[in-house]
Amino acid sequence: MTQLAVHDPASGALIAQLAADDDAGVAAKAQGARAAQRAWARQPLAERKACIARFRAGVVRDLESLAVTMTRETGKPIRMSRNELNGLLPRIDFFLDAVDRSTADETVLDEGGLQERIEHVPLGVVANISAWNYPWFVGCNVILPALLTGNAVLYKPSEFASMTGLEIARLLHEAGVPRAVFVPLIGGGAVGEALLAQPVDGVFFTGSVATGRRIAQTVGSRFIRLQLELGGKDPSYVCEDADPQAAAGSLADGAMYNTGQSCCSVERIYVHERIHDAFVAAFVETVRGFKVGDPMSEETYIGAITRAAQLEVLEAQVADAKAKGGRLHLGGHRLPGPGNWFAPTVFSNVDHTMALMRDESFGPLIGIQRVAGDEEAIGLMNDSCYGLTAGVYTPNRQRAERLLSQLRAGSLYWNCCDRVSARLPWSGFGDSGVGLTLSTYGIQAFTRPRAWHLRSAC
Ligand code: NAD
Repeated sequence: MTQLAVHDPASGALIAQLAADDDAGVAAKAQGARAAQRAWARQPLAERKACIARFRAGVVRDLESLAVTMTRETGKPIRMSRNELNGLLPRIDFFLDAVDRSTADETVLDEGGLQERIEHVPLGVVANISAWNYPWFVGCNVILPALLTGNAVLYKPSEFASMTGLEIARLLHEAGVPRAVFVPLIGGGAVGEALLAQPVDGVFFTGSVATGRRIAQTVGSRFIRLQLELGGKDPSYVCEDADPQAAAGSLADGAMYNTGQSCCSVERIYVHERIHDAFVAAFVETVRGFKVGDPMSEETYIGAITRAAQLEVLEAQVADAKAKGGRLHLGGHRLPGPGNWFAPTVFSNVDHTMALMRDESFGPLIGIQRVAGDEEAIGLMNDSCYGLTAGVYTPNRQRAERLLSQLRAGSLYWNCCDRVSARLPWSGFGDSGVGLTLSTYGIQAFTRPRAWHLRSAC
């Protein structure tokens, strides 16, 4: 049987060999899901909700061991693993609370013997191909509303978070979701490709633009629901009336949290020239204070880089910025020893000729660019193929809203960053993807609205 080797990115050590799926296994599981989906959809919603409520209780019960598993396989600092699991609970509560109103039948006309009604039917069997950076968040954003609305889910966790993927499956099965209704598939890109070859009714993907593009090409001609949650190069602008110290504290966290490996990490910062130097000094001091080290340590803020290949991307961006005149304040290199480590890195004096201001870094690396005013800042923030999130720091709400409304981004932040809410839609413009998760729209995404035209007499 094929195996998937799991390595601890903090030490390089082999920590598990998981049984992986092959093409025949993927096909058999897809057939099983097809056969099981109807009965699952026929169950009353209250019963499906009860399963997800029991799943929630399992997460609470096992939280510490789940956090340790996630930290061991991704290098995420243990406190952040706990934060992710604790942050998942209100998301589950939102789904449980909102699913009834999001999918209830709606009568939109009822007069003269004619009724028009909208019904939400499940898509059927959906494929979820997922990323490793927030495996509980990005997995459950798809899995939970899909199951609640009566779909079967074929779930391929990232090969860098498959132990967590199997834990999600264990807890869902223990909670009463049939094994054929929620099906984990273990392996790398080849297993993802085998999954896409199955006759599924929807594909929900979280990951890189390159893979998203391949998936769109593979399934685009099949006319099935396709959602792609992709990368970002998220900008923030600090106005001259902002408190440089407070903005630096907030943005340093937004740039470096999860070792910079968040789709909505702050990846570009523009600062008004009047407070630029004070901001950079405060930013560098904040980042200098971030403890780098053993992800299992309670004090650690910067952990390991999950995918070794990303180290080369970071090194290339640093070399490019240096060659083009960027000023390096901190870091700029790998850290010695086994495992995948990169020092938190801060550049100023950067511009848009540099890769670190254009391409996703997905690591603890940030560029800070001086701007003369609002107009220049808006132009630079919109100068990107991505459009996931964008933020403005100023005490003036009117000014913030005026600036934010001009930005091409799915989420807009005033005096905050790197924030996701289950109540709000999560989506991107441009290369950040198509479709959305979260909010009531992110529940309806797993259904097909069906139109009923009912005449009491012809
Ligand atoms: P990735 O594209 O390398 O892998 C994502 C998934 O796709 C994995 O499960 C992988 O096995 C699978 N895969 C790879 N090749 C495939 C193929 N040919 N066919 C089918 N499946 C295939 O991305 P990653 O490194 O796991 O994730 C990091 C990226 O995800 C970053 O760009 C980040 O910004 C993005 N991301 C976006 C969001 C969002 O909400 N927009 C959230 C988290 C991460």
